[in-house]
Parts: sequence; structure tokens; C-alpha cells
Amino acid sequence: MALIVQKYGGSSVADPESIKRVARRIIETKNAGNDVAVVVSAMGDTTDDLIDQALSIDSNPPAREMDMLMTAGERISMSLLAMAIHAAGSHAYSFTGSQAGFMTDAQFGTAHIKAVKPDRVRRALDLGSVAIVAGFQGVNEGGDATTLGRGGSDTSAVALAVALDADVCEIYTDVDGVFTADPRIVPAARRIPVIDYESMLEMSSCGSKVLALRCVEYAQRFNMPLHVRSSFSHRRGTLIVPEGVDPRNLPNI
Ligand code: ADP
Ligand code: ASP
Ligand code: MG
Repeated sequence: MALIVQKYGGSSVADPESIKRVARRIIETKNAGNDVAVVVSAMGDTTDDLIDQALSIDSNPPAREMDMLMTAGERISMSLLAMAIHAAGSHAYSFTGSQAGFMTDAQFGTAHIKAVKPDRVRRALDLGSVAIVAGFQGVNEGGDATTLGRGGSDTSAVALAVALDADVCEIYTDVDGVFTADPRIVPAARRIPVIDYESMLEMSSCGSKVLALRCVEYAQRFNMPLHVRSSFSHRRGTLIVPEGVDPRNLPNI
């Protein structure tokens, strides 16, 4: 039996129908005999909308309050996704970053993960449930909610996969994987079937937002295999694996 961490980005959970579709996919992975822990982003443009609302009230909002607000986006998607899994006849527990044990430094807006203690996530998996974790957020030593920087759910997913010793971390998005260039801007761009961490780091640091830079750094440091793929198809996406690992042996490909 494999332990799979799946991360669904905002474009994959943009509305209730999409959330139901993602719930079915999670259940499918579970029914194939895997343990599944999920990291979810806020729905669609929720994070941008929250920022706009904040700025319409205070042009220079306190960083602590801003993070408190931003973490609300992922609370909405995680609980709705848990409900969708329940409605489809399976079971899931949702957890905030704090409940899932994401300890960070105190840098509001760009906090770094210092440790992940996913005891409650593990207990949920042991009970046979799906565990759903709010991406992009943690808690500092003082007990305040923090966020990891834009696109930070990718990093949450890898950090959870490492802490759980998962077999693979799957990053579900709205394109078929990592391409030679942004496929929305360059229609002739080709999907890259397998790429090494170093080359992926280069792409992320050049601004390709398909994977957050810190996520790739984290995966490289802990040799966590990544599979970037579309939540809208079942095609194989892009595999990013440590040297010596045969990508054909990864679960769920
Ligand atoms: P999510 O909501 O799943 O986190 P993002 O919008 O953060 O998704 O990232 C996916 C987007 O990244 C794609 O829709 C695509 O337009 C863009 N992108 C930029 N560069 C690349 C690339 N080299 N390969 C694939 N996608 C890319
Ligand atoms: N919701 C956050 C953002 O929009 C985190 C993420 O999607 O990864 O940046
Ligand atoms: Mg993203």
C-alpha cells in the first residue's frame, strides 16, 4: 500500500462542481488501495479577492491581520472538499495548517516552515479516512496564523509528504505538467515527461509559477518524488525524481 500526498491548486477547486470532481478523484485513489493525504489551495481567485477587500479597508493592513484573513481562503476549500467526500459516501477530516502541525517562524506573509508534526493527520489516515490539510499556512511560536508566500500550497504539500514519509507528492493543476514554456502563452510548448530537481529549480526561479521555488528546494533537500499533472485528465504529467529512482515505479502513474 502506498501513501500518496495530493495537492490541488486553486484552479482545480474553483467552484462546487470542481470540488466534487476532485473528491471523486481522491476517493478513486483511496479505493485503489492507497492512503491519501490532501493539501488544498483556496478556491479560484479567493486569495486575490481577500487581498482586495483588505486593501479597500486599510491601504497598509497589519501583517498579522492580513495573514489571519488569508488563511480563511484555504479553510473554506478544505471543509467543502471534506463535505464533498462525505457526500460521495467516503470519509475525510479537514485540518488547518496549525491543526496539521505546520510550525513556522514569525515572518507574516512569507513564513518559513520550521517543523511539521502531523500527528492528527496520521491518526486520521490510521482510521481509514482521507486527511485534508489547508495549504499555504502554519502557526508561529506565539500561536498566530502565518502564511508561506503566494503559491505556498505547493510547499505545504511537499513538507507534509516529507513529514509523513509519503511515496510520492502529486501536484494537481490546470495544465498537463511542466512544459518547456508557459503553455498558455507559448502554444508550441511541449510537456517535459521527466526533469531533475536542478533544472526544475531553474525554471521556478525564472518565474514559472507551475511549482513554487521553495517547494522544489524542499523536495530536492529531502529527495521527495514529485508528479505534476492535471486534475482535469488522467494522463501522466511531469515526474521529478531523485537520481537512481525509476519513475516507472512510482505509485498512481
Ligand atoms: P494552481 O492553481 O494549480 O496552483 P498555478 O496557476 O499556480 O496553478 O500554476 C499553473 C499555471 O502555471 C498554468 O496554468 C500555466 O499557465 C503556468 N505556467 C507557467 N510556466 C509554466 C510551465 N513551464 N509549464 C506549465 N505551466 C506553466
Ligand atoms: N492560495 C494561495 C495563493 O493564492 C496559496 C496557493 O494557492 O498556493 O497564493
Ligand atoms: Mg500555484
